[in-house]
Amino acid sequence: MRSHILLNPGPVTLSNKVRQALLTPDMCHRENNFAQMAQRIQNKIENVYHEMADKYKAVLLTGSGTSAVEAMLSTFIEKENSSTLILANGVYGERMASILERQGKKTCVLSSDWSDEIQFEEAEKLLSGENDILYIVTVHNETTTGRLNDVKRVTELCKKYNKFLLVDAVSSFGGELFDFLDEYGTVKAVAATANKCLHGTPGVSFVLAEMELLELGKSNSMSLYLDLIPYYQAQKKGFSPFTQAVHNYFALEAALDELEESGGIKARHERYKELSERIQSELNNLGFYTYLRTDDYSSMITSFNVPDYLTYEEIHETCYEAGFIIYAGQGGFEGSMFRIANMGNIQNKDVDRLINVFQKLSQK
Ligand SMILES: *Cc1c(COP(=O)(O)O)cnc(C)c1O
Repeated sequence: MRSHILLNPGPVTLSNKVRQALLTPDMCHRENNFAQMAQRIQNKIENVYHEMADKYKAVLLTGSGTSAVEAMLSTFIEKENSSTLILANGVYGERMASILERQGKKTCVLSSDWSDEIQFEEAEKLLSGENDILYIVTVHNETTTGRLNDVKRVTELCKKYNKFLLVDAVSSFGGELFDFLDEYGTVKAVAATANKCLHGTPGVSFVLAEMELLELGKSNSMSLYLDLIPYYQAQKKGFSPFTQAVHNYFALEAALDELEESGGIKARHERYKELSERIQSELNNLGFYTYLRTDDYSSMITSFNVPDYLTYEEIHETCYEAGFIIYAGQGGFEGSMFRIANMGNIQNKDVDRLINVFQKLSQK
């Protein structure tokens, strides 16, 4: 079968080591060997950002990134007595609003244009007036456009107005630095997944939540399956209430080891920056312009405008034929935007070839 280099924001192109790990002999999730592996994985996740290690605990779930986000919001956000401020500037921020609305929880949504940063001034106006907001939720890397939101500035608002923060870090965990984990203690939990910047396979996601909060054992979940508390309690011994994606655990452990062996989060972040900056500047030279200012981007995905003389389908097809998967825009940008992610096992020679493809496209 034809293999493609995946330049979509997860699942990613696997390394051989991670792919080989999928062939580990079968294992039952109720046996000690599985539990030991689960505990090793929790520990490795808690140590990706050393600043998190003593304070946060990883709760593993079987599901895609959205299951971790939904479990986080489901478990920690109250149904009554308080409301949640959602700071959104893309699909994933808006998805968190939908999740909370489905759960019948009180929300207040501040949505920006997708080309804009979070509405900090509006948020401050809201927070400084009378309000019943307890939690603020936002997205670290808004994958819709590739904007890296200023979550640190959100923690400053949390500190000033005594609010708590929950972060969708699904597309940044393992690739971006977390400059928002400070002494303020405002970040209660982050949700993330195995199959983006960690380079594992889809099927495992997780929430890193403050140990103190988990230990309280208080859940607001109306979902049985997405209630983090029973997982947390069972996973102290490595077990889970429900069947886990055993084979994806094998892959995730191999991926976490590979991250560590290749120099950890700082080295991966530097590598991503090198790749994304190269893709941006080379495509820009060929007349493919970025949707945001280059300073606004995270290091793992860039959104480009489709030029007038091409369609998204032509760009996608040409890339596909050359062995690359690129990604369309979302939510009204399907025809006018394309996105290129640089997570996964991407080599410089792959980028060389990709640039050749765009060179040809630019001459159409
Ligand atoms: C990928 C992603 C998700 C989760 O998407 P799934 O399809 O459920 O894996 C959530 N938030 C962000 C920011 C993402 O990039």
